[in-house]
Amino acid sequence: RAKDIGRNSFQLFTPAMNAHSLERSMMQSHLRTALENDEFVLNYQAHKNCVLGKVSGVEALLRWFNPLIGHVSPGQFIPMAEELGLIASVDHWVLEHACKQRKQWLDDNIDCGRIAVNISPLHFHQGDLVDSVKTVLAQTKLPANLLELEITEGCFIKQMEHATSILRELKAMGVSIALDDFGTGFSSLSYLTSLPIDKIKIDASFVAKLPHNYRESQITTAILNLAQSLELDIVAEGVETDAQRIFLLDRGCQVIQGYLFSKPVSAQYLPQVVCALA
Ligand code: C2E
Ligand code: MG
Ligand code: MG
Ligand code: MG
Repeated sequence: RAKDIGRNSFQLFTPAMNAHSLERSMMQSHLRTALENDEFVLNYQAHKNCVLGKVSGVEALLRWFNPLIGHVSPGQFIPMAEELGLIASVDHWVLEHACKQRKQWLDDNIDCGRIAVNISPLHFHQGDLVDSVKTVLAQTKLPANLLELEITEGCFIKQMEHATSILRELKAMGVSIALDDFGTGFSSLSYLTSLPIDKIKIDASFVAKLPHNYRESQITTAILNLAQSLELDIVAEGVETDAQRIFLLDRGCQVIQGYLFSKPVSAQYLPQVVCALA
């Protein structure tokens, strides 16, 4: 059991360990029991379609609070969950809870578009993703067209054909696919033409430098032109200022996610965000 492994890992502490590795092993052992101890919650961040003037989607973002170590950011614990082999169960938990929540909002007539769930490249290739999505949609009774999966190019570095067939199966079910963090890493343009994706998300690292930085502005403009000519939907991430919003909107990027409109909020506040952004 995960709990036993967690306990045993304390035996690994030796005086030779420095504070950093001690902290790390402690965090790892708490992460192993985080699911069973109910320490995860989801926050939800709206995407606003600035032309339609409404929320057109919501991204589920995972939060971890452990009573002994406090809040840990996903930037820290997601890579750790990948290393520990926990990511598939963590992602499955997120999928289940996000779909359940979206179904609740559907029943409550909260019109907030698709619910977007992040899928780790490791989970993507573990083989049970398609089944796991099928099961969760059946259990929660969420219509498949209200679910979007956010994947990254890490999914395609190896086994491009395998990845493509997984995406085709998901699309055949009606689930939509977004390519997250676009423009970082080794983004290959061939992904855009050969993969069955619906949307790209321009990474916040580009948006952060708009509109004054020449290179990022040019790259963003090129990505937007490309997306438009391939008829892909596009979302800009990490939009914090009006100047960024205007730059993006001028170049045809209608959907925006960022602190300018809303931070990620807990489920109970999402209906207020949806009203405020309409
Ligand atoms: P991501 O999927 O690219 O999510 C966007 C990140 O940008 C989120 O950070 C969000 O809170 C943050 N953000 C949104 N708007 C702004 C803004 O205007 N300014 C700034 N500075 N930041 C903004 P977060 O929640 O810390 O998540 C970080 C990453 O962790 C995510 O990046 C995603 O890769 C991963 N992650 C989060 N939840 C999950 C999950 O349930 N499963 C998996 N596999 N990964 C997750
Ligand atoms: Mg994402
Ligand atoms: Mg991203
Ligand atoms: Mg990211």
